[in-house]
Amino acid sequence: MSANIELKDIHWLIDMVHNIDVGLVIIDKDFNVKVWNGFMENHSGLLTAHMVDKKITDVFTSIPEDWLQQKVNSVCLLKNKAFTTWEQRPYLFKFKSYRPITSNAEFMYQNVTFLPLTDIVGTVTQICMIIYDVTDVALNRQALQEANHKLEHLSHTDGLTQLINQSYWQERCKIEFKRHQRAHHKTSMVTLNIDHFKKINDTYGHPFGDQVIKGVAESLRQNQRETDIVGRVGGEEFSLLLVDTDLAGAKVAAERIRAAIEAMHFDCDGKKVKVTVSLGIAQITDSIEDFEAWIKMAELGLYLAKNNGRNQVGFSVH
Ligand code: GH3
Ligand code: MG
Repeated sequence: MSANIELKDIHWLIDMVHNIDVGLVIIDKDFNVKVWNGFMENHSGLLTAHMVDKKITDVFTSIPEDWLQQKVNSVCLLKNKAFTTWEQRPYLFKFKSYRPITSNAEFMYQNVTFLPLTDIVGTVTQICMIIYDVTDVALNRQALQEANHKLEHLSHTDGLTQLINQSYWQERCKIEFKRHQRAHHKTSMVTLNIDHFKKINDTYGHPFGDQVIKGVAESLRQNQRETDIVGRVGGEEFSLLLVDTDLAGAKVAAERIRAAIEAMHFDCDGKKVKVTVSLGIAQITDSIEDFEAWIKMAELGLYLAKNNGRNQVGFSVH
């Protein structure tokens, strides 16, 4: 009678193991499969009869044998659970993802728990792997990370020109200043302002003014070196950080920018419109105490250029 009850219990236990919505795989220490439940059958297309006594790494060749050996060793030795998450290893068994809301997933993301199974004398003889489908969690997390990256990019970017905006440019400026204090490399700044821009707006309209700002930004982008940091720091004002460049190098770069913009023309209803820019440059020296003083120094150069008649590069030596 009691044997009957035990058999009944075992029957529904087996039924549950087979139908539960997680993968259950039991392997021995040689990686031979002992149990392969319905979840595993459904997702792999491989029946229990096919899998039992097969070495798991022979059937799923993408499971690194060394890695599995390490997991099995630690589970056996410590007689404790081990885990692997989708962030460490996206999947252990490459299964297609069939979930409707995650239809854009190429495969099922999995978390896996390794459990030691002991015999009656307490020796670990088999290992149970529980495979959880965490595709929804993984995709949601990835979507969130992507959205955060986009937000971060947007918060750093000027909408009109797609250059970095004033606040982010200042952050970068602060970083470059600190870097200089540590490494004492030569670094310069160029501040550029469009000449008589108010007149452009007043004569041709604000939307045309916007086109000019975009055009100047594009010219700066084309003229910049990979290490230069270019930002729009005001309405018609831009600043560049020229990393590893001394004042003489900054003069050459600023003059090249000035000449490139002078050579441009903008089309307004068939009329050719030309603009010029004034530029101020400043190299960090020991007498410049912080990044704000460095910015002020470049602005002083710009003021001198404007005062001397515009369309030129100005600087003051500290
Ligand atoms: P200066 O040569 O001394 O720099 O003279 P300026 O006319 O360029 O300088 P001012 O500061 O008098 O005028 C700048 C103008 O730029 C005023 C402002 O309306 C315009 N402005 C600022 N931001 C934008 C923008 O995003 N788009 C347009 N179209 N105009 C802008
Ligand atoms: Mg101006």
